Order: sequence, then structure tokens, then C-alpha cells
Amino acid sequence: MAKTKKHTPALGADYSSKMKSRYSEKVKPSGKKYTKSDRRENRVKGDMQENSKQENIKEIKYQGGCLCGAVRFNIYGPMRQVINCHCGQCLHTHGHFAAYSSAAKKEFHFVNDSGLKWFHSSDKARRGFCQECGASLFYERLGEKNLSIAAGMLDATERLNTIAHIFIDDKPDYYEVDDDLPKFSQYHNNEL
Ligand SMILES: [Zn+2]
Repeated sequence: MAKTKKHTPALGADYSSKMKSRYSEKVKPSGKKYTKSDRRENRVKGDMQENSKQENIKEIKYQGGCLCGAVRFNIYGPMRQVINCHCGQCLHTHGHFAAYSSAAKKEFHFVNDSGLKWFHSSDKARRGFCQECGASLFYERLGEKNLSIAAGMLDATERLNTIAHIFIDDKPDYYEVDDDLPKFSQYHNNEL
């Protein structure tokens, strides 16, 4: 079982000691006011349920968020092992290849989505980022059960390992992938 914090972490830049050690610089919390329509847009689409009741009875398995804290989330179910994506969209979003895990949308709950903004990268998918600190957090195929979550956004990654590479044919020349993990030219197994 993942470590469960007894209290919800404070929003904004109030990091735990662990987070402080990860980031030497201090980031100012957002002062932006968010509207109902922001919240509507930020709802994870497809299989999202009303999770507020579940939250009280289910154990938090994973927690994560962006650099400044304006996007924070809890995950109440298992996460898929990590898959590295070398596609051009991920490169241009993340600045390098993307390492994504994923979780069922019904097990996913925002603690803070005040900084969250969605970019529709195609008519089938959108990417979630923090408009305060620029973190690239999510990839969502619209209507699917799972939400892809950039693995670096997780506070702790017990039991998660990198298991494969996808879109390997799109990899740019500036780095090599020389591990023995399976490599696929397109998507592979989006299940948990
Ligand atoms: Zn942020």
C-alpha cells in the first residue's frame, strides 16, 4: 500500500519537506480566481463519476501535482506501469520524450484544479497543463476510461516501473534508446 497522508496537503506552494527537497526554488501560489466554466472544462471527460463520497471511504494510492501546486490530484486505484512515448506531440509538449502512467478516470480526483488548462491536441485527445507553472500533466483520449498521467507528477512511484517505449520510429536523433524494453511503432495496450 502506498503511504497515505493523514491530511490533504495545503494548496499552492506549501510543500511537504519531501517536495521542498525536490525543488530548491520557491514558487508563488496562484492568485487567479476561477469560474464555474473553468471547473466544467476541467472535469475529466468520459467516465468521470461523482467522487466526493468515494474520497472519504477509499484509500489514496497515489498523489501528485505540478511544480507550483495549482494542480493537485489523488488516485484511489492502481496505476499502469510507465510507458515512454517518443511521438512528436509528446516531445513538443514535454520538451523530451514523455513518461506516462495512467489511472482509471473513476479513481482519479482533483484536489486542486485551479491552474489546470486543457489544450485540444486533436479531435480525439487533449493535454492538461498548469497555466501557472507550465507543467505538462495529463494526456486524455476523449471518451476512454483511463487518463494518462505524466509519471514525474507523482509524489512517489512505489511499484511503478518503465515497461515499454511507444512511437519509437518517431524518436529524434539526439538521444538513443538502448535498453531491452519492448518497443512499438504506435500505441500499445492502453489498459491498466
Ligand atoms: Zn503549476
